[in-house]
Amino acid sequence: MSEKCNLCPNNCNVDRQNFVGRCTELNNMRIAKFYPHPFEEPFISGTKGSGTVFFSGCSLKCAFCQNFELSRSTRGKSITAHDLADIFKQLEGMGVHNINLVNPTHFVDKIYEAVKIYHPNVPIVYNTHGYESKTSLDIALKFVDVFLPDLKFKSPTLSKRYTGIANYFEVASSAILKMMQERPTQIKNGLILKGTCVRHLILPLAAKDSIEIINWFEQNALNESYISIMSQYTPFGEIDKFAELKRPITKGEYERVLQALMQSSITNCYIQDRTSASEKFIPKWDF
Ligand code: SF4
Repeated sequence: MSEKCNLCPNNCNVDRQNFVGRCTELNNMRIAKFYPHPFEEPFISGTKGSGTVFFSGCSLKCAFCQNFELSRSTRGKSITAHDLADIFKQLEGMGVHNINLVNPTHFVDKIYEAVKIYHPNVPIVYNTHGYESKTSLDIALKFVDVFLPDLKFKSPTLSKRYTGIANYFEVASSAILKMMQERPTQIKNGLILKGTCVRHLILPLAAKDSIEIINWFEQNALNESYISIMSQYTPFGEIDKFAELKRPITKGEYERVLQALMQSSITNCYIQDRTSASEKFIPKWDF
């Protein structure tokens, strides 16, 4: 008898042998690209790149997704756990500093199978939208060294507007607290070996929400965790209904958020330059 999928907080309860839930992916893993990615935070990309594997589908599906073709499952090829283990070896052979699993939540159980076949000799990075259940996070904690979660929205109104999910912050912030508790930061020679780096993308008309995320991090960060404030928002995806999303963030919005960060007591942080808003940072998909 097939099991029903309740891996992530969406609890779709579907048989993924034959049907898709919110993530729009069946049981078998699909990926759209793997390569040494140069554009992550400096302590992740280093000088040789981060060994990034981009998974197809997504269990959150933000309207403004910067990897739209992937998250909507229009790109990707099927791979087995053995194939993924081989990809880990190939990336290691290219000299990457880590294995970086992008949007892994809906395949986390399959990825764990690959790690049991071949455990990379470099840190494993879990690059997630942050909307993790106890089930998905407990599996990730068995093999992940570095958590790289987004914390996208504080406001339930914003998360509902752009993802259809009102309890995003409640679920994601609780998962991130657990990540920070479980992975005290270790950095060596400028590269992160273990820890948590919380990412937040500033959205047009939402600087207030970004400042609330910074305030939350200031009050709750544990174990020398990092925050990375991203300004690279580029109009992309299913944004026809959202007039405010049809432009990059303004200089004024960027500076408001930057000022809040500077006035906080946070010292473990990265902030992108505003010129990072460009489609050139969106990879070309291979599969
Ligand atoms: S992994 Fe996919 S099918 Fe399973 S509960 Fe999450 S969104 Fe639904």
